[in-house]
Amino acid sequence: MIEKHIKDRIYAKYPTHCPFCSYQCAIWVVQDSHGFRVEPREFTTNKGEICIKGWHAAALIGHPKRVLNPLIRYKKDNAFRESNWEEAISFTVDKISQIRSRWGNSSIFVYGSGSLTNEKAYLLGKFARVALQTSAIDYNGRYCMASASKALEMALGIDRGLPFPIDYIAHTDLLLLVGTNPLETMPPIRSHFDCLKKRNKKIIAIDPRPTPTATYADVHLQIKPGTDGILANGLLYLLIQKNKIDHYFVRNYTSGFEKILNSVSSFWPAKVETLTGISQRELFRVAELLGTEKNIVILTGRGCEQQTQGVFNVLSFINLSLALGIVGKVNSGFGTLTGQGNGQGARELGLKPDQLPGARSNLDSFDRNYIASLWQIDEKDLPSSDKSVTEIFESLEKPQGIKAMLVFGANPIVSSPNNSKLKRLFPQLEFLLVCDPFLSETAAMADVVLPTAIWAEETGTVTNLEGRVLLRPKILDPPKNVKTDLEIIHLLAEKFGYGLRFSSDPQAIFEELRRATAGAAADYSAITYQRLSRGEELYWPCHSFLSKGQKDIFLTKRFPTDKGKAKFHPVYPTASPEEPNIEYPFYLTTGRTLHHYQTGVQTRLIQKLQEKEPSVIVEINPAVARHFGIKDGQYVLVETKRGKGYFKAKFSPNLRLDTLFIPFYSNAQAEANALTISHFDPLSKMPSFKLCAAKIQSLTEQTPHTEHTEIRKEKK
Ligand code: SF4
Repeated sequence: MIEKHIKDRIYAKYPTHCPFCSYQCAIWVVQDSHGFRVEPREFTTNKGEICIKGWHAAALIGHPKRVLNPLIRYKKDNAFRESNWEEAISFTVDKISQIRSRWGNSSIFVYGSGSLTNEKAYLLGKFARVALQTSAIDYNGRYCMASASKALEMALGIDRGLPFPIDYIAHTDLLLLVGTNPLETMPPIRSHFDCLKKRNKKIIAIDPRPTPTATYADVHLQIKPGTDGILANGLLYLLIQKNKIDHYFVRNYTSGFEKILNSVSSFWPAKVETLTGISQRELFRVAELLGTEKNIVILTGRGCEQQTQGVFNVLSFINLSLALGIVGKVNSGFGTLTGQGNGQGARELGLKPDQLPGARSNLDSFDRNYIASLWQIDEKDLPSSDKSVTEIFESLEKPQGIKAMLVFGANPIVSSPNNSKLKRLFPQLEFLLVCDPFLSETAAMADVVLPTAIWAEETGTVTNLEGRVLLRPKILDPPKNVKTDLEIIHLLAEKFGYGLRFSSDPQAIFEELRRATAGAAADYSAITYQRLSRGEELYWPCHSFLSKGQKDIFLTKRFPTDKGKAKFHPVYPTASPEEPNIEYPFYLTTGRTLHHYQTGVQTRLIQKLQEKEPSVIVEINPAVARHFGIKDGQYVLVETKRGKGYFKAKFSPNLRLDTLFIPFYSNAQAEANALTISHFDPLSKMPSFKLCAAKIQSLTEQTPHTEHTEIRKEKK
């Protein structure tokens, strides 16, 4: 479907989707006499809008910082040398084979990403388990969706971030947002918010920060960081007191409500006000809205999920949703907003250690036998583990720790918590392979870097935040010596003697993935490239060619749990692992901003984005800043017990006086994750990126900003 307008100097227009976040906006890639550029395309989610990241996504095509040949170094302290594929693959396979024979198969850790397509996620999971026979596998969604994913499985029996379509937002009567800032991180969602507001319906935002979303909301509950579960329990207490519970729904479609009556009984308003900082007047007002509106959508985000109590925070809002009877009701429901472009697909297609493709359990004997037979291996040889990247990195120093790591499309040295420890330990790995189009901070530490194609140079599918599967077609060839991740996995598998079982053709892999997921929770079996190419709107689970899959998966009110009912889980909030004190008087919270995506490996290379946000900032309330002698825009030192960094102060009037915010993309002098804490949620293994104690100090002299300097040089 390529339009040609030679006389208008537009050579071709390719319909595809943005490579960045889970909103997966529809775009045109336009090829004209100047090269490639992006234009927005009409679609059900983005309604013809895209954000600044999408507008500039084509700047990555032909970018001068691309890695164009395999890079290799035989000794850790050597510089990289440009190599060829034969040498790089042979060296990689030799090193892995030596390490496996010395330390065992599971000494090799395969680490994937929510930016990989469905085909790559599936093939990488199969490669780890079949060709390497390692149980050590995980992906960077552990840092993103793990708490929401765990809570959804525990309460509703299935992990689909949004179990209903995004347009429910426009048609609901009340939207409650918990720790999520989509108006900044995925701005095209605004059209749905605007529709809701035009109908005179209300939005409530729970967030310690006055984010663009919280500012747009009608009610902003500026909660004390780490008290989300207390607030949810307090609201449920009031709804029970005022008899606003949907008893019919609770009786017929849920289990465990009796335990909730007990667990929330001590969350009376005065106590909740003291613990959360939300006044009783606001508590009563919000409970009144929740108790009277007919249709309600409740959405959580990383704000309440990236905490040591992340799973229980999400469960507390699911409890609220079940008590109100909004789950499985049109224009209502509970959901969570996925962050990464394919955060949804990557986790259900085999990158989690305890899951096999289709969100099958790696502990269930039927699921294990089904996948083992498809992969032509004995079920006994299918590795099994529930060890997360968080735990694997924790044990790096121990004798039983991993010895080699294969990284596909991720940058863990920047995205992991307390990363100064990792920077010390990564060079001790016997072998590190990184597959990436650019020399990320992690790639810069590798023994071998294999250059990969970017989004426009390969075909693949992704699953957006609604569970809708989308096809992104190849638009141009990658540079001569660059390969797709699928080709790299095929080459590695071939050297290990498994070449015939590992295709490098995306459509052939998708066909296999369809068989692997048939009959499973995340069933892709009736989704095909042909149907997607025709523009069909297809959601998983989809097991019939007569169906478009399930757009709202709970409409039947039959939940895929042992008794077919949704489950309440009592939530008993506990103290955070690190609270502010005299030495470190602030809560430090981290997150994403408009101009950079993830650790910024790609967006920091896009000049227009980098110019908008050249420095890593720390947001601070101006009143507090003045107390510390800090001026807006000056460099400051932020320090925690684990590390420090130089950040540019950005005044944020209305930010809580006790809170600092730093985005988690980085540059050489400023990394949020040099400061964050290693503690993690015991159920999801999600690190506590949103909560630790910090101090701030004014600097007398400005610290030079290397990346900004670099860009200015390029412009001359
Ligand atoms: S980054 Fe997200 S919101 Fe922005 S254009 Fe891309 S998909 Fe859309």
